[in-house]
Amino acid sequence: MVVGVLALQGDIREHLLMLKDLKTKTVEVRLKEDLKEIDGLIIPGGESTTIGKLLKKYSLLKKIREMDKDGLPIYGTCAGMVLLAGKTSGFNQISLEIMDITVKRNAFGRQRESFEADIDIKTLKNPFHAIFIRAPVIEKAGKNVVVLAKFNKNIIMAKEGNLLVTSFHPELSGDLRVHKIFLSMIKEYQNKKHLRKEKAG
Ligand code: GLN
Repeated sequence: MVVGVLALQGDIREHLLMLKDLKTKTVEVRLKEDLKEIDGLIIPGGESTTIGKLLKKYSLLKKIREMDKDGLPIYGTCAGMVLLAGKTSGFNQISLEIMDITVKRNAFGRQRESFEADIDIKTLKNPFHAIFIRAPVIEKAGKNVVVLAKFNKNIIMAKEGNLLVTSFHPELSGDLRVHKIFLSMIKEYQNKKHLRKEKAG
């Protein structure tokens, strides 16, 4: 299994280190060619407007959208969540627009730009220590979106098919459990691909 980390801007290194701890091979994705061998893609936090512009500049938008249609697991943290969202309320920016959610950027306002909280994630037994940095929230979620966590009534973690998003930064808290959830989505995808090949061959 090879996991790509979009390496245009943001906290790339932290994700690479988490994946290393999970003994997973990684590729830093900057160019279209880097997408070839990957079985999953992480879009890190950073500045979504900047990452959006760079995705366009490096002609990555179309290819990533195609790979999403093909079922490639993609995980967006914070700015990565904004980049996957179908809509960003009150703001126009270049993004992938592949997940059926509407997000609000910097949703916790200036007073609470950054904070930490223990949250409950649906599929995990014990609370997860979540770090929020100018975090977005999901304002609206389509009918196929599964809500995995909320904080003060706001949706902060969700899944839709092959797509996973979190408002917070699990790569900063030293807890591997959210990354493990993503790796299990990749394993599922690999099994499906394998079955498809067997059927075709
Ligand atoms: N507020 C940033 C954005 O909308 C996200 C911040 C982050 O990724 N930590 O791009």
